[in-house]
Amino acid sequence: MTADRADEVMAGYLLKGGKMLAKSCKVCGYPLFEYKGETQCVICPLAASEESHPEPEPPVPATRSEQLPAPVARELQGKAAAEIERTIVHLCERIRGEQRPDECLTLMKAVERGARALARMGQR
Ligand SMILES: [Zn+2]
Repeated sequence: MTADRADEVMAGYLLKGGKMLAKSCKVCGYPLFEYKGETQCVICPLAASEESHPEPEPPVPATRSEQLPAPVARELQGKAAAEIERTIVHLCERIRGEQRPDECLTLMKAVERGARALARMGQR
């Protein structure tokens, strides 16, 4: 488990609507997340699963569309892109109001990741 990988995972959860909490995990020291109504550590389960079988990348909606017929894929991609754009705007608003430097950094990584996903979709 590298710090970069942990950042990636946390950024992924932020993009999926997770909320980073001010509390941190007693086991690994990374911030806890509120996701789907539950407070959880997103790093510990990952560290455990990486020992036996590697965790796949958190899915970016558009990557699944490869097997779909082109018009459906395009429609899904358009929706996903609009959703990611909205998320990026929302994250940027949060960065402006965020006092904690650590969280700012993670939010900015989430924005960067979202922007990369958008760029990938545009290339298809
Ligand atoms: Zn943990």
